[in-house]
Amino acid sequence: MENVNDNACLECVHAHSVDVLSKRSIQVLPELFTIEESRSRLLEVIPDHGLGVERTTSHLLQDIAPALNASSLSPNYYGFVTGGISPAARVAESLVSLYDQNPLVHLPDQTIASNVEDKALRLLTDFLRLNPSEWSGVFTTGATASNVLGLACGREFIINRRLEACLGPEEQESLGSLGLLRACHITKIDEIHIFTTMAHSSLYKASSILGLGRSSVQDVRVSDCDFTFDIQDLEGRLVSGQYNSVSIVVVSCGEVNTGLFASYGDSDLQAIRSLCDKYGAWLHIDGAFGIFARLLNGVPGFERIGQGAEGLELADSIAGDGHKLLNVPYDCGFFFCRHPSLAQQVFQNPNAAYLNTKNAATDTIQSPLNTGIENSRRFRGLPVYATLVAYGREGYLDMLLRQTRFARAVAAYLYDHDAFELLPRDVFTSRDRIDQDIFIIVLFKAKDGRLNEQLVQRTNASSKMYVSGTVWDNSPASRIAAANWQVDPDRDLEVVKQVLEDVVSKWTEGI
Ligand SMILES: *Cc1c(COP(=O)(O)O)cnc(C)c1O
Repeated sequence: MENVNDNACLECVHAHSVDVLSKRSIQVLPELFTIEESRSRLLEVIPDHGLGVERTTSHLLQDIAPALNASSLSPNYYGFVTGGISPAARVAESLVSLYDQNPLVHLPDQTIASNVEDKALRLLTDFLRLNPSEWSGVFTTGATASNVLGLACGREFIINRRLEACLGPEEQESLGSLGLLRACHITKIDEIHIFTTMAHSSLYKASSILGLGRSSVQDVRVSDCDFTFDIQDLEGRLVSGQYNSVSIVVVSCGEVNTGLFASYGDSDLQAIRSLCDKYGAWLHIDGAFGIFARLLNGVPGFERIGQGAEGLELADSIAGDGHKLLNVPYDCGFFFCRHPSLAQQVFQNPNAAYLNTKNAATDTIQSPLNTGIENSRRFRGLPVYATLVAYGREGYLDMLLRQTRFARAVAAYLYDHDAFELLPRDVFTSRDRIDQDIFIIVLFKAKDGRLNEQLVQRTNASSKMYVSGTVWDNSPASRIAAANWQVDPDRDLEVVKQVLEDVVSKWTEGI
């Protein structure tokens, strides 16, 4: 299989990478005909005689690479909340592929990989102002997987408490060993509720995966323009289900369409925490991107955003994303839990002696295969470690300030514009709300309903910037999310203005 030219192929790819990375501007999307052409060149049957590495490399570089979008490479790709790859993370990522470590079993005498991941998680908790000694963590494929872990731990916790009450402490049965049906039968639980506000779609998915059901997710927000918890409503629902049901409360720290938060300040989370303690509920935070608002705590001009992520240390578990605002490559998320032995009850690989490693008494590192979903996986922690080391707190604060200032400048431009409306309308009732409430996301629509139907498509057809389409108040809306490390507020505001002015003038001229 090996050929002297294989390394030359790697060099080709390297030269291609340098070429792509040094381009000053880059189209956000390939032309449609390029994608169609490329699609027609994909092989449909396995060749008897493989093409070899050289021809395969040409196929990759000539037929496939030109048909990929610049979602991560372009500072003007504002779809979803994608993030890019910081230069330090990119360097580390190439080592991840080269050494191809599987850090799932802690093998301290054989590789440093699990130590690096452990340190990366410690740096990350510290960076997010969580006490590293109180939180155990694991890297995941993203916030969706982290939400699955959060609900799985929550489910284990709330049902184990009931099992203990029914069976007594001697009979140490857990949900993880009994299974959901038997545990609910023994404890006479017939409903599991998830109380939240403006949950991300992945929370419904996580509920379905775990057998809790999408319909168990209930929204208890104050109103359509206030995503914080209606505390009385929450307590009412917790009280009414206290005998035959158990509950998990999930706080959306950063709502994905608007960037608004579900709690502001310690007191909001204190109130939720007290109710969870009173009724035996688990408190999970979905902080996919919003958790990074912890960097803005107390920064003048950004106080309200900082408050959006205050008090997270009161939770039982936290989900976060690396491949969004941390700007490390896909796929990387993280999960923090304050009850480390609980995660083991859920994720333990039983009876696999070959996976157990004898640790020295001083070595506290858990093999991640017993605290998360996967057994084997890639060395996700290395790019996280590298990027945190390379840029530090100040580098990330600077990045987040650029992203937030850009989003605020775009929001102000839209607010003042005759053709556009900043959403949610009931939140941005005055211009100064922008400098309080806009984080990294701007939601808007065109006032002209027919233009609005086509706004996303016309904007993206420019190939200079990319926005996501969404639906708000039953009508189409456009969304700009600034998550790339390269954001430059002044330069990028000009791009947005130019593209949107062009869309409006063409529409007015009937083009
Ligand atoms: C993006 C996002 C998710 C899902 O994250 P993935 O990384 O796509 O799995 C979950 N919750 C929130 C709030 C998000 O913004």
